[in-house]
Amino acid sequence: MQIMLCAICNIASGGCSEDCKYCTQSSFVKTNILKYKRKDIKQIILEAKMAKKNHALGFCLVTAGLGLDDEKLEYVCEAAYAIQKEVPNLFLIACNGMANVEQLKELKKAGIFSYNHNLETSKEFFPKICTTHTWESRFNTNLNAKEAGLMLCCGGIYGMGESEEDRISFRKSLQELKPFSTPINFFISNENLNLKAPKLSADEALKIVRDTKAALPDSVVMVAGGREFVLKERQYEIFKAGASSIVIGDYLTTKGEIASKDIEKLEQMGFSFASECH
Ligand code: SF4
Repeated sequence: MQIMLCAICNIASGGCSEDCKYCTQSSFVKTNILKYKRKDIKQIILEAKMAKKNHALGFCLVTAGLGLDDEKLEYVCEAAYAIQKEVPNLFLIACNGMANVEQLKELKKAGIFSYNHNLETSKEFFPKICTTHTWESRFNTNLNAKEAGLMLCCGGIYGMGESEEDRISFRKSLQELKPFSTPINFFISNENLNLKAPKLSADEALKIVRDTKAALPDSVVMVAGGREFVLKERQYEIFKAGASSIVIGDYLTTKGEIASKDIEKLEQMGFSFASECH
């Protein structure tokens, strides 16, 4: 079995106008995360090279904030062109919040393969975790990405206090979008966040992976943030549960597993690394 590895590059961090309660990049939260408006292109290239060395197939350019504006769009395109020139054969993903069809077409022209915009949770539960924008606006951006001809990477976060009904409803919405890949994040509590929810157990987390694969058999199920925190020594059981992709290296604002440890473990388990997005 082949595992698709993806690396995340936080190219614009923090200072976000939105109040997503799970997110340390929100201005509503006092945190000591690194904040910057623009990561140097040379640094992005270095991280892309590292991702490639770590067998990553996907490389995701993430910007904090509600959505794309002209300046951000130009910057993401500039980064995309530079990576393609210096580090060919990485599949580029953009994750830049709300976007219209024209903006997304520009990203596609610049070589972006897939757009990541998570629904995060069910339509019903979303107002409890964010009040500054709507779940529908997230759903619509996903429709825009499809219309622009981009592949979709759309998933969300579990363990924020949502019910089983919410989880089912969330996955039904994902079924409507039919994403190419669907990331599963597990909420990581932080003393500065207003969101307090009990930590998921490893069994619950593995059930979520199984239920996601059952609901979306044709999507690549990716386990992203919270893998190490929630699953600990059981983290590699996700592949039996239906996942075929993980994030390699660090996440947006939290540390991930050491890349070499993941690579060694995956090789020991007899997996190879995907070199094509099918
Ligand atoms: S819009 Fe994105 S960056 Fe801003 S607070 Fe919400 S999740 Fe965080």
